[in-house]
Amino acid sequence: MEKCFSAIRGNQKLCKRLADEIAEGRFPHAYILAGKPGSGKRTWALQIAAALACKSRVALPCGVCDSCQKILGGFSPDVIFIRKDADKKEFTVNLIRRIKDSLYIAPNELEKRVYILEDTETMNANAQNAFLKMLEEPPSYVVFLLLCSNTENLLETVKSRAPILYTEKLPAEEIRAFLLENSPRAREMAQSDPQKLQTITIAADGSIGLAMSLCEESDKHAALQKSVLDFLTAWTAPALTDLDLFCDRLPSTGDGMTDFLNALKKALRDVAIAKYDTVPDLMFFSSFEEAEPIAARITVSKALKLSVAADTLIDKLKFYLDTRLAAVTFCSDARRIMME
Ligand SMILES: [Zn+2]
Repeated sequence: MEKCFSAIRGNQKLCKRLADEIAEGRFPHAYILAGKPGSGKRTWALQIAAALACKSRVALPCGVCDSCQKILGGFSPDVIFIRKDADKKEFTVNLIRRIKDSLYIAPNELEKRVYILEDTETMNANAQNAFLKMLEEPPSYVVFLLLCSNTENLLETVKSRAPILYTEKLPAEEIRAFLLENSPRAREMAQSDPQKLQTITIAADGSIGLAMSLCEESDKHAALQKSVLDFLTAWTAPALTDLDLFCDRLPSTGDGMTDFLNALKKALRDVAIAKYDTVPDLMFFSSFEEAEPIAARITVSKALKLSVAADTLIDKLKFYLDTRLAAVTFCSDARRIMME
């Protein structure tokens, strides 16, 4: 086969493994595809479904035959997505019943029927136990692909019957290449503000989905970066007077405050590793030089303490904490940590 999974970025080993299994007719009846949100799990699942049906000898999947076009376009009756309703917290047993209704009916057009189960990290125990029965003895034409952002919640009995494939985090250059190819906004930014595009490819942290949405919301993203930098500058200044003023400028909504704290955590992580000689990939700053002035003014231990304080507040904001109170608490935590 000359080309396999050419629509997938990176993930070379995984592509080769799956293409070999499909070409040699030994693709298992279930896989768990694990990777963080935006890492391309849904694209993977559709590509696998197309490759299972495609008869091309040149590329797998070829993307142009009838089967490929139907599957990749979402028109095949034999590729079925099962996902929880957006307003529900859990993937419940009702969704498994939906699979059961069609499980023993032969596929319509293809040799296989592929069930793509999304959000399986939210599958509750009832749903998993009901699913296990199907996973133990599925009809020969059935393939299950379970997509999840982490596998911790999945029962060992499920994991033992469905090998886990992890999607790779893509390097920043791959992300940049993808954006330039697929996002007009990114192309425009490459001309008008290359620094901003660079910041986005780094903040995407290996995820194409996140990179795309950051591109669309690039102004909001730039404002967030600026407010984190301003905060760090105030926090590490010789006198802490600006820190108190900053408290009033922190986001006023729960989501805004959570975004700020998450971005700050990434920046603190960069500042801490900037102190070492070998710097791995950065998560917030676009270059080592940008992180250095702040790194020079604080210790790793202070960066870590503030990051832990941010984490604690993120958790509290999920449940009950008032945003204004969160801002005041955070600024006083930051002051205490700096004075220690
Ligand atoms: Zn094809």
